[in-house]
Amino acid sequence: MKTIGYAAHSADAKLVPYHFERRELRLNDVAIDIRYCGVCHSDLHTVNGDWGPQPYPVVPGHEIVGVVSAVGPEVKHYKVGDRVAVGCMVDSCQECDQCHNHEEQYCRNGMTPTYGAPDRLSGEITQGGYSKHIVVREEFVLRIPDSLDLSRSAPILCAGITTFSPLRTWNVGEGTRVGVIGLGGLGHMAVKLAAAMGAEVTVISRSTKKEAEAKASGARGLLASTDQAAMQAAANTFDLIIDTVPVKHDLNLYVPLLDVDGTLVIVGQIGPMEEPMTMPLVFGRRRVAGSLIGGIAETQEVLDFCAEHQIYPECQMIKMDEINDAFEHLAQGDFAHRIVIDMASLSVD
Ligand SMILES: [Zn+2]
Ligand SMILES: [Zn+2]
Repeated sequence: MKTIGYAAHSADAKLVPYHFERRELRLNDVAIDIRYCGVCHSDLHTVNGDWGPQPYPVVPGHEIVGVVSAVGPEVKHYKVGDRVAVGCMVDSCQECDQCHNHEEQYCRNGMTPTYGAPDRLSGEITQGGYSKHIVVREEFVLRIPDSLDLSRSAPILCAGITTFSPLRTWNVGEGTRVGVIGLGGLGHMAVKLAAAMGAEVTVISRSTKKEAEAKASGARGLLASTDQAAMQAAANTFDLIIDTVPVKHDLNLYVPLLDVDGTLVIVGQIGPMEEPMTMPLVFGRRRVAGSLIGGIAETQEVLDFCAEHQIYPECQMIKMDEINDAFEHLAQGDFAHRIVIDMASLSVD
């Protein structure tokens, strides 16, 4: 199937229109007309080569929503016209303990990311959602519930599941004291999801500038990490802290905020860490943990949860040819929330 996307051809290059082929449908494949694709910080890092050499050209994008246009003969759960989604991975071994446990993101044999990785069967490099079409095996296709607005759902596929999974893993519920560091794409979803689970949510930010926004998302308040007195007063007051800051920073500042048995979970890629101070960990049995997206079943769960609670990411819609500008703003960190590409702005010829 001929399609078009926007690809980077080298680490320093801007994204440009790129004609390429999607594979012929295999027996269990679903072909999707992409309607919207979210723009994730990892898209930027990947095309810039920040996380290592890339198999250019790379078409990024792993917050994909659209409509089924064709199905392979053995597809059981989807039909033409269904509203569907694809997230950060498109395959895994399906045989190991992690895959059997619905944690394909931790597949022992390595899951296949949605873009920039060899397909398990053909070795062809996967290409992501900044394009008109995608072909994905049925097991990695998600369903968009009827009551979710397609144009506002894309960021649930990465920003949503990345924060939902640790909230579930650490059993967040009524009254759990949750801190969310950073109020960007991931952070504001963490606040909305945790608040809908009944948690008492506090945003932890460098200044109080985003206080109104934090409260509008469902937080009870905002703790400024530069306010030493406030930070001291907040010691031992959190059960779980979700750290969404996508750049290098010192975790030692935040660990004392955890109560006994509290956990700080890193969900961003922050590179090498400052040396952790052991005393606050030992005195309080506190933990620093990490978490990567979520499995396919859990990704369906967060889509259903967002439908049930009518939770939407804050989206700013752009046209496909505005992507290079959007990347620049994203690199500066001056985008509140999530950019979403309207794929109707990209024509096939
Ligand atoms: Zn992402
Ligand atoms: Zn596996």
